[in-house]
Amino acid sequence: MPMMALQDPPAIEISYVGGPTAVLSIGGLHFITDPTFDPAGGEYASGTVRLRKTAGPNVSRDELGHIDVALVSHDQHPDNLDHAGRALLQETPVVLTTKAGAARLGHGAIGLDAWDVHTVKTPSGLTLRITGTPARHGPAGIEKLSGDVIGFVISIADTNQDLVYVTGDTVWYEGTREVARRFHPRVVLLFAGGAMTRGPFLLTMGTNDAIETAAAFPGATIVPVHHEGWAHFTQTQQDLRKTFDTLGFADRLQLVEAGKPLRFGSLAGQSAGPSVVRTQEALNSPLVEPAAASGKGCA
Ligand SMILES: [Zn+2]
Repeated sequence: MPMMALQDPPAIEISYVGGPTAVLSIGGLHFITDPTFDPAGGEYASGTVRLRKTAGPNVSRDELGHIDVALVSHDQHPDNLDHAGRALLQETPVVLTTKAGAARLGHGAIGLDAWDVHTVKTPSGLTLRITGTPARHGPAGIEKLSGDVIGFVISIADTNQDLVYVTGDTVWYEGTREVARRFHPRVVLLFAGGAMTRGPFLLTMGTNDAIETAAAFPGATIVPVHHEGWAHFTQTQQDLRKTFDTLGFADRLQLVEAGKPLRFGSLAGQSAGPSVVRTQEALNSPLVEPAAASGKGCA
């Protein structure tokens, strides 16, 4: 029997909105991660913690265009879901989040536990499988303070090719290591920033955790978000850049930039070498230019 050739996976386009928010376009389907669209300057109470937003979105809600699926890592923190983000969920056909979050959000939001699966169809006819992944929003013991959080892996159902891992707010721990054992995505959308609100410890990935992630996902490009726009983020993209460069992971990191969507092109020959394409040619391809020129998201 001849081996069935693996289909070329679809291109993945990533448009950065700000904070934890990005639009992922795959096969004509538009996902949004942790939607936040409030303007700069807001103060938010989150339990006993106060959060201050220092930058508005790079893409306005009106410029955004249609969103098919919202991936909400958790609903209880305003830097992951703000007022305008909540309003967007009302118009989004599929909302995936934690079980506790789905109960709070209502309106048909779907709750996932780690390893639960939900499938969606793209306009191009692909079935995408979205798997919930474990997340721990800080050191051991944080769960009671932080509440539940979940991450997501998007895969092609028919071929078992993994496309994107969205970490959600988590540190590197045994749960994320297990994600690396089970999945081999081309892109990891990593929630970085070394968030600090409750004491001298990090609540999201810092530079050390980002390097652990890069080492554990050798076939993936690391695309960090959740590193600017809020006063409680302690590490920047440039901190990640310096760390990756120093430790020999320079070509594994792709920084996001407002108005410049990233495009990870499709690639033949999945079995040979890393399944990641991020050439300058892909980034500069005509598909990218219209969105980049208008300064808009995936619209
Ligand atoms: Zn959070």
